[in-house]
Amino acid sequence: MSPASPDSPTETRSTDVAQQHFPGAASQNAPWLRDEMLAMLDHWVDWRRSRFSEDVDLPPEAPRAVGHHRLSARLTALRDALTEETPTFTPRYIAHMKSDLSLPAILGWFAALLHNPNNTSREASRVGSVIETEAIAHLATMLGYDAGVAQGHFTSGGTVANFEAMWRARYRLDHCLALALHISETTGDRLDPFAAAHMGWDRFRALWQQHGVTEAELKQSSAMAGNPPDIYRRISRASGQDYLGPVMLAPGNRHFSWDKGANLLGLGREALWSVRLDARGRMDLEDFEQKVLLAHGQGRPVLMTVAVAGTTEMSAIDPLDGLFDRLDVWQRQDGWHIWRHIDGAYGGFFRAMLGGDAEAVLTDDARAALAAMGRADSITIDPHKLGYIPYSCGAFLTSNAQTYAVSAFDAPYLTRQDLAAGKWASTLEGSRSASGAAATWLTAETLGFDPQGLGAILAGTIEARRALEAAVTAAVPQARFLPGDANIACFTLAEAGEPLSATNARTGAAFEFFQASPAFAVSRTTLGKDGAAVKAAHLATYGGQDDGGDLVVIRLVVMSPYWCEPAVRAEMTNLFVAELSGAVQASQVMPTEDGKR
Ligand SMILES: *Cc1c(COP(=O)(O)O)cnc(C)c1O
Repeated sequence: MSPASPDSPTETRSTDVAQQHFPGAASQNAPWLRDEMLAMLDHWVDWRRSRFSEDVDLPPEAPRAVGHHRLSARLTALRDALTEETPTFTPRYIAHMKSDLSLPAILGWFAALLHNPNNTSREASRVGSVIETEAIAHLATMLGYDAGVAQGHFTSGGTVANFEAMWRARYRLDHCLALALHISETTGDRLDPFAAAHMGWDRFRALWQQHGVTEAELKQSSAMAGNPPDIYRRISRASGQDYLGPVMLAPGNRHFSWDKGANLLGLGREALWSVRLDARGRMDLEDFEQKVLLAHGQGRPVLMTVAVAGTTEMSAIDPLDGLFDRLDVWQRQDGWHIWRHIDGAYGGFFRAMLGGDAEAVLTDDARAALAAMGRADSITIDPHKLGYIPYSCGAFLTSNAQTYAVSAFDAPYLTRQDLAAGKWASTLEGSRSASGAAATWLTAETLGFDPQGLGAILAGTIEARRALEAAVTAAVPQARFLPGDANIACFTLAEAGEPLSATNARTGAAFEFFQASPAFAVSRTTLGKDGAAVKAAHLATYGGQDDGGDLVVIRLVVMSPYWCEPAVRAEMTNLFVAELSGAVQASQVMPTEDGKR
């Protein structure tokens, strides 16, 4: 199953690319990493010495101060302490969305760190902010946006990038509703909050001009500029129906950041509507459609619809193409512009596989979904996951300047021309490092976000996940895998026909076995209410009896680039099968009472 030499063009390619752009499972590339690091440090020192050297009479050599000895000693202590850190560089680490850093990422990160730009404004980041713009353009191209018009910035991670999307979606919704409320109150025409909130910018501008509305008037009707309960009361009066506020639609497979963000926006928990999942853990489009129609019936606008490309649990890719087709029809027929956001924090980089041999490893569904990414209003992507960039590095992108805009009220750039080129007015975060942008930039310029570069590596990890699944299934009869779109594998350990509680107990015990052993780091997760269809389909594969409870699974994130190398893959697969067999034997001997433990 796992030959020790490459047997396909993708495998050869991914092996080469992984070997050239990462430190190496055995740190083979350390010598030239060291050379580049030292050269970078020397270059930085030369640069400092060349600037303003005439200002002071510099002593030729710094005294070796007592402070230096102390620093050296404590640095040694810090270095030693860090050797106890989780060794996530090794291919044995398959627990979470973390792996070795790429060489361009390490070097790009340090290069910017030494100059420490603050991307909050061009003043504080003459070069860093330009690098950020170029890095965003690289990501935009990979994601299917027109890099000439797409906008975006780097964030501390996917969580904040998701908040950035909600912030903008709320701004658009508020402006549209404010305009419609103002018009309704001045003309006496009945307000339809659902239609109004989704009118889109073209209609907004047309109505704005037609009615000669001023910004001051718009602010009088804006919940964001004024008092929300008061505005809601006026919307209720103008529409002749109690206005209950907007809802957000996000699939049950969503990351917890969406719940946090809804809370931060002041939406009640009730306003975050979960779209049901299908048996493969992807958004169910029929349920989505029904929920939009339900919101319409209740006169509640849809603040935004979120779809996930690469879910946190299973790396499932929602049917983005089908979703956008449905939204296109509503847009054309009813003029409903519902905000489309893709949470591609994990899986956005899979789009680098499209357009070359690499995409052959994808299922038709996944390929079609990824191809549709450019049709979204906004996208979240985490370079610190599948971009192999250090923490903390997320990114938020929109299709164009209009979707990027945050607020037209009191736009600070109107009064502060000097800061016009700065991002600070349109980012949730204030001070922002340029290191993530520089690491992303150098990765894009060397490894490349295309099927020949990063795409080849990601294809290799998907192939590795499949090979591992096949080897485990052949060797361990109890191991039963859930469906997967990408490089995360989830499995249970089940005997045919047994109750779910018994399966959960065995899977849970095997997880404890892995935890107690240094051989492999794996993770455990449970699929709850939102994954009901996944659970039912899984139980059906072995005639398992649902006696209540969530489905407990062992989760393997096969993202290490070293799994692309046939020799590493073969060795790791054999070791894993042996370890799992041991875990199964141990869990037969020592069944635990509660599989959820
Ligand atoms: C990781 C992840 C997030 C959150 O990103 P952070 O970088 O951890 O803040 C959001 N959505 C998805 C799908 C993720 O996988």
